[in-house]
Amino acid sequence: MSSLPWAAAPAAGNAIGLYAKWSPALDGKVEAALQRLRDAHAEHGAGLVQSSSLGVEDMVITDLIARAQLPVDIATLDTGKLHAETLALIPAIGERYGRTVAVFKPVAEAVITFVKREGEDAMYKSIDLRKACCGVRKMEPLGRMLAGRTAWITGLRREQSGARGDVGFDENDGQGRRKISPIADWTWAEVWAYVEKYAVPYNPLHDQFMPSIGCAPCTRAIAVGEDFRAGRWWWEDSSKECGLHAKG
Ligand code: SF4
Repeated sequence: MSSLPWAAAPAAGNAIGLYAKWSPALDGKVEAALQRLRDAHAEHGAGLVQSSSLGVEDMVITDLIARAQLPVDIATLDTGKLHAETLALIPAIGERYGRTVAVFKPVAEAVITFVKREGEDAMYKSIDLRKACCGVRKMEPLGRMLAGRTAWITGLRREQSGARGDVGFDENDGQGRRKISPIADWTWAEVWAYVEKYAVPYNPLHDQFMPSIGCAPCTRAIAVGEDFRAGRWWWEDSSKECGLHAKG
């Protein structure tokens, strides 16, 4: 990996220093996002859950939920392949906001069977095997996370990729639930401006040119000019989605 150009890139400050810019529109966007969360809670009550990837957008949303003092459950998926820096955010949310993050893990036997059959590096062998790995480690536990819920909150933003360019604030997820994306219209600069203003805890891997952080084997830093999600499954010529946010 050390031969990769981004691995040798010198640190150029942190993500806040690189990206944060409070736009004139951001005060209004913060208020609108808070209202979307209040409305979603009023409509769905205990049926609402924040499905957090622990990425910076989701950390902003957790901060907004806490700021609005909404008793919304927060949940995440621990695929067994996450970076230590990502997992460290689970206790950090507890310390900062006094909230417990519900952690959903894959079924151990299913992972063992998959790895025995296809190998630890199955994700690199074919798109089908990569999707099968995501199925075992992400989709199945996501199904348990969302069981009994009527709506889930995500950190999707329109700017993240062409495939996400038309993300709505409140959409049908194709499975009979609402998918609420309260900061869908925020820019990357606005996300980081909010992080700076409210000292939101975030994954230090974002400081290493990883705007989108998933499992360790499937995430790399991006180079200047690359798409936000170029560092996810970078060896594939695919839509850079794992199925969590596939269009129905
Ligand atoms: S992102 Fe990679 S390691 Fe994680 S579940 Fe998908 S294929 Fe497996």
